[in-house]
Amino acid sequence: MSTLIIDDIEIQVQKKKIKNIYLRVKAPQGGVQVSAPKNMNDEAIKMFVISKISWIKKHQEKYKNQPKQCKREYVSGESVYVFGGKYALELVYSNRCNDVKINGDKLILQVRERSTIERRANVLNEWYRENIKREIPKLLEKWQKIIGVTAEEWGVKNMKTRWGTCNVRDKRIWLNLQLAKKHPKCLEYVVVHELVHLLEKSHNNIFIGYMDKFLPNWRKIKKELNAFIDD
Ligand SMILES: [Zn+2]
Repeated sequence: MSTLIIDDIEIQVQKKKIKNIYLRVKAPQGGVQVSAPKNMNDEAIKMFVISKISWIKKHQEKYKNQPKQCKREYVSGESVYVFGGKYALELVYSNRCNDVKINGDKLILQVRERSTIERRANVLNEWYRENIKREIPKLLEKWQKIIGVTAEEWGVKNMKTRWGTCNVRDKRIWLNLQLAKKHPKCLEYVVVHELVHLLEKSHNNIFIGYMDKFLPNWRKIKKELNAFIDD
């Protein structure tokens, strides 16, 4: 592995037993890596990278604009969010059943010893799911009356890219499990947004007009909702 610096960009160069040269901009920080054939000389590699510099910058920009996500391990001391409140996670081992409890500013995650990160994530996610499922019916009851529509069906799904979805034809609403980490007004905003879709399918001026009417501060909530994505 060697390093090239072009236009203030650090590029890791790795020579391998391959036929073609290729380039990657890696998540999450936009590090640049070039894999080149063993017999390719440094000058040719440099020329290749220079020819790709605008492509590299474009992709690095993409990562720069993404909120930082640090990998969770679900161990004591990590911060976890529940409806906008910040809690310090406390991992407790027990051979009894898995459990999640809030105690003051602590969130106690009780799992079996030697549980994997995935298992701990699942236990916490299921707890988030129970919590958010308890809140949604109240919001639906309130807003269906105000907006004058009815969702035939609703559910909670862990989604990567959307806060909610609405199938207008089937009048079915999905809400993102991740909303259980956000302030309750964020969940309320998404519920209103999806219900308004039952009046207007697309995000046009009519849709925005309804949002302004029903939830005048929706823009502020939307901004807050998208400010930080915590996985
Ligand atoms: Zn929408």
